[in-house]
Amino acid sequence: MRADSTGAVPFLDLLTPHRALEDRLVSAFRRALRSADFVGGPEVEAFEKEFAAFCQAPGCVGVNSGTDALRFAFVALGLRPGDEVVTVAHTFIATTETISQAGGTIRFVDIADDTMTLDPDALEAAIGPHTVGVVPVHLYGQPVDLDRILQVAAKHGLWVVEDAAQAHGARYKGRRVGSIGELGCFSFYPGKNLGSLGEGGAVTGAERGLLDTVRQLREHGQSRKYVHEREGYNGRLHAIQAAFLRTKLEHLDAWNANRRRVAQWYRQALADVTDIVLPQEVPYGEHVYHLFVVRTPDRDALRQHLADRAIGTGLHYPVPLHRQTAYAHLGLSEGTLPVTERTATQCLSLPMFPEMTEGQVGRVAEAVRQFFRG
Ligand SMILES: *Cc1c(COP(=O)(O)O)cnc(C)c1O
Repeated sequence: MRADSTGAVPFLDLLTPHRALEDRLVSAFRRALRSADFVGGPEVEAFEKEFAAFCQAPGCVGVNSGTDALRFAFVALGLRPGDEVVTVAHTFIATTETISQAGGTIRFVDIADDTMTLDPDALEAAIGPHTVGVVPVHLYGQPVDLDRILQVAAKHGLWVVEDAAQAHGARYKGRRVGSIGELGCFSFYPGKNLGSLGEGGAVTGAERGLLDTVRQLREHGQSRKYVHEREGYNGRLHAIQAAFLRTKLEHLDAWNANRRRVAQWYRQALADVTDIVLPQEVPYGEHVYHLFVVRTPDRDALRQHLADRAIGTGLHYPVPLHRQTAYAHLGLSEGTLPVTERTATQCLSLPMFPEMTEGQVGRVAEAVRQFFRG
């Protein structure tokens, strides 16, 4: 996985940032060990305060994963059988499996071609008498253009849950994502822009009542010890992960700035390659490049060409959710979501991580260029 000078470029490097922080991470572990607070406790509370401040959100509840964050958000918002939630099929399945698990029905809509995120026009058309909410996904670190979605949501009385699992620190018109809808959901899976050393997640928001319900849901529906307001889940953030996250949070703005710099290098190096579509640099916000995703009809051949040169790539995502067996019961045939389906065949995630050097970007770009020269 380690970047080296032989020309190989990894897709992701999870060793270098942790090596740089090793002493501090080991002290964080020692702190947890010596306090014997393993689940919940002061480290979790401190992290929640710090992450809320980072997101410019009034409140934050730490949970055990991004998936739990979404599930608890939907349950807290009172999703009931028959309720419909509108979202995209061009995302990770956690966005939608949690809608079903909370009792709701998924209503898939297409993405917009320029942003690869939820198409606001498609949203309005999909709203019916049973629609209760919408889940914009800030995919790849790119903030969704929220104003139109919020407008449509307000007009129809829908709640908005932001899936910000790939967008820690991204800004929409100056505001951090996750602080704009009713609730924001984050993942701290290791490869995310802010990753724990295991599993972790958080729900951010302003409304105390909703956050209190999320707090109960993560702990078996308890409002206090021995008092269960409802059935809940075992979905707490581990104290040791909170301690690691506090250490890493201090570096998140710098890491995101590095990701943006890597994206700029890619743009310069690939500007004259007309055979690929580069990701849009949105005018209304700040992309934090969890992934740098290009598009080309020759995706599979280009991916093989890069693999032959020891350049790692990823596919996010190659089979849209409405075409997965898990959603066969929805009966959405091929052609239902044309932009989503085309994007799934064309998208290619190039190497992207904060420590990536200009030389590494140059090697990837040169290999891409060589492929299209033939
Ligand atoms: C990673 C991810 C999740 C789920 O987070 P986990 O911490 O892995 O449960 C949800 N939505 C999106 C868009 C993600 O990328």
